[in-house]
Amino acid sequence: MQIDISKIKFDSRGLVPAVVVDVRTNDVVMLAYMNEESLLKTLETGYTWFWSRSRQELWNKGATSGNLQKVVELFYDCDGDALLVKVEQQGVACHTGEYSCFHNALWHTSNLPVPEVEGLPKVISELYRMILYKRQADDAEMKFLMSGSQDKLLQKLGNEITETIIASKNGEKDKVLHEMADLWYHCLVLLAYHNITPEELLRELGGKRA
Ligand code: AMP
Ligand code: ZN
Ligand code: ZN
Repeated sequence: MQIDISKIKFDSRGLVPAVVVDVRTNDVVMLAYMNEESLLKTLETGYTWFWSRSRQELWNKGATSGNLQKVVELFYDCDGDALLVKVEQQGVACHTGEYSCFHNALWHTSNLPVPEVEGLPKVISELYRMILYKRQADDAEMKFLMSGSQDKLLQKLGNEITETIIASKNGEKDKVLHEMADLWYHCLVLLAYHNITPEELLRELGGKRA
């Protein structure tokens, strides 16, 4: 099959940046550059080929390390000056041995003082940190929910509970899932409003086992 690559805009050096995502995890694992030849080779072989700017040569990712990237899908962006390559990453993507090249945090919400606690699902502590971060950053959503009175937040919680109840009554399992996730999220916002940590909540929950 002949693939038309005329929509791709290579820059003055003949290169286009390619963001590589591992389809198994949805993590961005790498950024590298393709020239026309490497893009064509990628399409032809089903494995990623790039142009190495440092070595000035075509580069089949994984050729020496074995960490090949099997291409699943390839997109170009709105104005054709960037590529998104979805791959099945074999082994790790980074030549340092890390899974993703993006393993250095310049800033991360884990900088916020919410401790990692064993038994507290990561997704909850991450969400809670995100809420704290948004509040501190004057994010519009958090401002709406939390500035001045808590009325808007309580109203929102009421809505989410009602929607969960309705979905459940209607036997709409997908909707129950969706609405309950919204409900839990806004419960975390309410925790943040009262400066209660998720750890405290978990301890309280744990106490119900007795
Ligand atoms: P590989 O393509 O994995 O066989 O690695 C061959 C060489 O390509 C390495 O020694 C690095 O110089 C370079 N390389 C591999 N992976 C990356 C990467 N993710 N980012 C930058 N350079 C890489
Ligand atoms: Zn663009
Ligand atoms: Zn790397």
